[in-house]
Amino acid sequence: MKIAIRLDDITPEMDWPKFHRFRELLDRYGIRPLIGVIPENRDDTVAGSSDGAPADFFQYVRSLRDNGWSVAMHGCYHRYVTKKGGIFPLNDFSEFAGVPYETQRLTLQKGRRILSEKGIDTDLFMAPAHSYDKNTLKALREAGFTKVTDGFGSRPYRMSGLIFYPISFRKSTSLEKKEGFTTFVVHTNTMEERDFTRYEELFEKAAKKGTENDPAASPFEFISYGEYLDAEAKDRGCFGRIREYLQAKIKHFFVKRMRSGS
Ligand SMILES: [Zn+2]
Repeated sequence: MKIAIRLDDITPEMDWPKFHRFRELLDRYGIRPLIGVIPENRDDTVAGSSDGAPADFFQYVRSLRDNGWSVAMHGCYHRYVTKKGGIFPLNDFSEFAGVPYETQRLTLQKGRRILSEKGIDTDLFMAPAHSYDKNTLKALREAGFTKVTDGFGSRPYRMSGLIFYPISFRKSTSLEKKEGFTTFVVHTNTMEERDFTRYEELFEKAAKKGTENDPAASPFEFISYGEYLDAEAKDRGCFGRIREYLQAKIKHFFVKRMRSGS
């Protein structure tokens, strides 16, 4: 499988040492990820050490973009205002799902304006908590977005006038599959030592693919997000939508059970 990486919760307040550590790892293996930038962060839980924070956050984001990194708008304030999961219910809280259409449209347009004023124009949306509803999709189109990083599947798909770039349902399964594309969702802020080690092992294994050091040839490879954006999108029908909704419900159930320790 071709695996792209996305980094969520990119803000001036994030944990910079962890971010830089993961960035250096990506740089070493030539992987350019997608970053989800929060236009105006109002979520206090996205916080960490400011060691190594750039003097001008948005200038730094522009420099990453100029280096080939892809940029998405990650909500507007990253503040959860409803207890809804919408049509991709991985979580039961949202900045958008369940909010009236007009408010969603204004919030999306505001976020886009904030980024644009900082020299960052993107038509790719990353929903906080992965949650959005039908009104979000309509509001996204109205606000000029064309792409969404979310959903399940093995290649990009077209739905409701937008192109979706699926994320991994289960990382271990994605690592076994040969065909298709997916995205690994990474929150550098909450990464622990073992997570850095695990990613380094995976990148190393993929880098050996096809060389004499890897006679078994790992079935997966890591790609830059831009390559994913270039992949052909297929139409998603009714059956695919229902399957995705149920998969998200199942994942939500298991993640919640795991977190509650039962
Ligand atoms: Zn987030």
